[in-house]
Amino acid sequence: MSIKTLPVACDRLTQIAREFGTPFHLYDEAAIRENVRNFLKAFDWAPKFKEYYAVKALPNPYILDILKEEGCGADCSSMAELYLAEAVGMTGENACFTSNDTPISEYRKALEMGVIINLDDITHIEYLRENACLPELISLRYNPGPLRKGGNEIIGFPEQAKYGLTGQQLLEGIAMCRDNGTTRFGIHTMIVSNELNCNYLVDTAVMMFKLAVQIKKIMGIEVEFINLGGGVGIPYRPEEEAVDLEVLGAKIRGAYERILVPAGLGEIALMMESGRMVTGPYGYLVARALHRKETYKNYIGLDACMADLMRPAIYGAYHHITVVGKDGQPCCCLYDITGSLCENNDKFAIDRYLPHIDIGDLLVIHDTGAHGYAMGFNYNGKLRSQELLLQSDGSVRQIRRAETLADYFATLDYPGLPQR
Ligand SMILES: *Cc1c(COP(=O)(O)O)cnc(C)c1O
Repeated sequence: MSIKTLPVACDRLTQIAREFGTPFHLYDEAAIRENVRNFLKAFDWAPKFKEYYAVKALPNPYILDILKEEGCGADCSSMAELYLAEAVGMTGENACFTSNDTPISEYRKALEMGVIINLDDITHIEYLRENACLPELISLRYNPGPLRKGGNEIIGFPEQAKYGLTGQQLLEGIAMCRDNGTTRFGIHTMIVSNELNCNYLVDTAVMMFKLAVQIKKIMGIEVEFINLGGGVGIPYRPEEEAVDLEVLGAKIRGAYERILVPAGLGEIALMMESGRMVTGPYGYLVARALHRKETYKNYIGLDACMADLMRPAIYGAYHHITVVGKDGQPCCCLYDITGSLCENNDKFAIDRYLPHIDIGDLLVIHDTGAHGYAMGFNYNGKLRSQELLLQSDGSVRQIRRAETLADYFATLDYPGLPQR
């Protein structure tokens, strides 16, 4: 069970909604900090452990500032994310660049920042060398293909995923890099997404530890770090259980000591690129009930839409919903909770039993702190919400304003459209 609570009392939330207007994503700074500390503590046995927060999960520099203070780096995969990392001072080996199908301009920016470059394909070695340069430190992304069972529905089975090098290519790639002057190596993988089963996450570590041993045996090269990627799940549904980070850390430690240490590889650093698990549970999309509609089903239309949170619409993902101030009331009404897009998938919940909702009620959609705001789009000319930070001292700060029509029209040079 994971109990879905609000980060502040109902009265306070109502007050915040009145002050800033709805809709908004609200992020809980104190909870994010506490969670990161527990995460890093679970891996403090490793010779070197660093979490490179996946910027794509919540690309807001104010959040990155917090994570930086807690000792995290950044995992970037686009030009914009590189700039965000640079702006908050996550450069050099405090950031990594795990991209795919990468344009040279992005590699050049990554090289200029001195970040750890994680190559997605063997052809990118030559591409980098010809168009920029091969750095002294290179990481290569491994895709085990059908060797490994247990892919899940977001990433799919590894052999169906576009990411990474095959085992054979990985060995060839290391040789190519070495022959071109690279002296330091890392290996990376990411083959699960939103995984709640601790054992699958440990399996990934075991696979990578064995790969490091193999690289040493075959090529005489000791990799400097192993990057286990992201993919740690969170309990979106109340009946689901969060991954116990302490147990995860201990099990990975067991594998490290069983596989790497006896092979003389007990100094290898561990990295992770978690996004969802770090901030996901500590974000809340707060919206107001705008309309009630009773046709073949009962609908409640909100002032937020899938521009603010796409996961339910594109993955059919469950996000828990709380009707503010009605916690004690029975969930006696069956609703579809919708947004205003002309797209029938624009629903935050389908056939959800909730307390009776009145127009004007505040609804909180839980677990929007990762892949929430970030995935939003402007289809139908819908504008994305503001982002608010509930700071550790209890005060609220706007860390991104809502989009305006002028933002939407900014790329059009045409008379008569609002530009300001
Ligand atoms: C998306 C992504 C992550 C973060 O995944 P989470 O599920 O948020 O932990 C990490 N690394 C890479 C390469 C990614 O594409």
